[in-house]
Amino acid sequence: MFKDNDILAFTLANPDGAEVSAFTTAQGIVVETWDTGIFCLTPANPGNKDIILSCGVHGNETAPIEIVRDLVKQLLDGSLPLAHRLLILIGNVPAINAGKRELEENLNRLFSGAHAQGGIDNAERRRAQALEAAVARFYGQRSNVERLHYDLHTAIRGSKHEKFVVYPFLHGKPRSREQIMFLARCGVDTVLLSQSPTTTFSYFSTNTFGAHGFTVELGKVQPFGQNDMSRFEAAAEGLAELVSQAQLVLPDYDETAVNLYRISRVINKQSEAFSFTFGEDVENFTPYPKGHLLAKDGDLEHRVELAEEAVIFPNIKVAVGQRACLLVARTRLD
Ligand SMILES: [Zn+2]
Repeated sequence: MFKDNDILAFTLANPDGAEVSAFTTAQGIVVETWDTGIFCLTPANPGNKDIILSCGVHGNETAPIEIVRDLVKQLLDGSLPLAHRLLILIGNVPAINAGKRELEENLNRLFSGAHAQGGIDNAERRRAQALEAAVARFYGQRSNVERLHYDLHTAIRGSKHEKFVVYPFLHGKPRSREQIMFLARCGVDTVLLSQSPTTTFSYFSTNTFGAHGFTVELGKVQPFGQNDMSRFEAAAEGLAELVSQAQLVLPDYDETAVNLYRISRVINKQSEAFSFTFGEDVENFTPYPKGHLLAKDGDLEHRVELAEEAVIFPNIKVAVGQRACLLVARTRLD
């Protein structure tokens, strides 16, 4: 058992390795601790979904960690039933304790084996390997079930669309309209369709295990206890329905209910002279019209090429040769 059914307090108090253990709740949920911040919950009669909720992959992104803690509290104290197998992953525990996004490396760029590249050993790389192993163990225990993985984040900067999701590249497989409607039910009404393989956690689950996986951005970073949890109500309620109901009742796909974007261009920094024409505080998804000057890089000018393109994740501090921002454009599902 965890004091006050609080897996977060338990995890942060045992950052260097929680003892492997198991107990059964009064409602018959078997709760296994596999490792630090890794908990597998199995109800007496599991339904047809294997659900992974991960949070804290970036240590300072506190609201998702609080959402997951509170959800598990309800499952453990019996106030919310569990209908499906559930794996909870609290990502970067030492970074959470330090109140930092990361200690040495961005954990969300170390999956699909990237942690083993380059002969570097650090806490984030070891953690990526442990998280991959937990996902493989969890999904490997059953087949012919729906595999789901929601990797919950908050963004560094503000966004025109406060809540959005990055839908990993599926190598040509169709996107799930049902999942898009579920995310909209969670208040996440903007979907960015990725069009290339990456080393993110959600791409790993999607590509390696055929899961419906998503990087879910729920709003802006705030310290623990300073999140306005009312802004996350829809997400918390949607996730509670997901884990507690045998089948979700969702509306039919409605493209007017969501904003769909695709990546239209990547702008890389080619020299130290690189500068944006907009300020540091520009919000993600800020749109610009055709011809608008976005950035200068020495003699090179980067202008909007489509009727409208929006900027996301601008970062002038990257090394020369690295991505300075992405441009996105409105799109539709095929
Ligand atoms: Zn994040």
